[in-house]
Amino acid sequence: MKIERDLKNLPHKTIERLSQYRRALLICHEQGQTHIYSHEIAKIQHITAVQVRRDLMLIGYSGTLRKGYNVKDLIDLIGEIIDSKRGINVAIIGIGNLGRALINYFVGKRSHLEIVASFDINPDKIGNIMSGVPCYSIDELADKIHELHIEVAIMTVPADFATQTADALVAAGIKGILNYTPKPVNVPETIYLEEYDMITSLEKVAFYVKIQDLN
Ligand code: NAD
Repeated sequence: MKIERDLKNLPHKTIERLSQYRRALLICHEQGQTHIYSHEIAKIQHITAVQVRRDLMLIGYSGTLRKGYNVKDLIDLIGEIIDSKRGINVAIIGIGNLGRALINYFVGKRSHLEIVASFDINPDKIGNIMSGVPCYSIDELADKIHELHIEVAIMTVPADFATQTADALVAAGIKGILNYTPKPVNVPETIYLEEYDMITSLEKVAFYVKIQDLN
């Protein structure tokens, strides 16, 4: 099968959905399902079958009309598209409530993404190991990023420290940042930045609850 791909031009939303499709497909695979139709994936993801087919066409995959998509082939292909073959090392900056929750949740979930270090300013936390992840002093950030080949950082520091943390990460050569603090940060265009604010998501849900009352 010849697969035409231009990874750099894949829409951000498609990348997000491919990750969600794979999560759903892995569950189907575990349950012994070998094939799946676009409308079944669509139903799980609460989107249209047209959207699923469009995303999968973008990565060069088409199923057979009769049997649908081969679950295992699709899992493998999505992996080829979104995973890095060499694996990517990740660090968590700020090992408080959220940092700890993320480590406990994520460790072992994806073989190609490994949380290899955490950083904090609190001397009581520095030197500890949580779920196999060591905590270093923030003063060691640049050295460890280099030494441990860390490419992605998750920021879970208090909002007041968001800017200085992002600046330190950029100076240390980080390539991607997931910012969980409510403070937006500025980074050079060459660094991929994703910002997630739980309150925005919750306000969005609350808005749609509010407008139900208007009907
Ligand atoms: P927390 O106070 O429990 O943890 C913050 C950690 O960051 C502490 O361990 C602290 O020592 C460390 N820290 C402080 N300054 C630092 C610095 N300069 N460098 C490295 N580490 C530093 O806070 P939390 O509840 O884990 O929240 C962390 C961030 O995530 C906040 O910005 C918060 O608004 C955001 N957030 C939290 C939640 C949540 O459910 N807890 C949800 C969404 C977003």
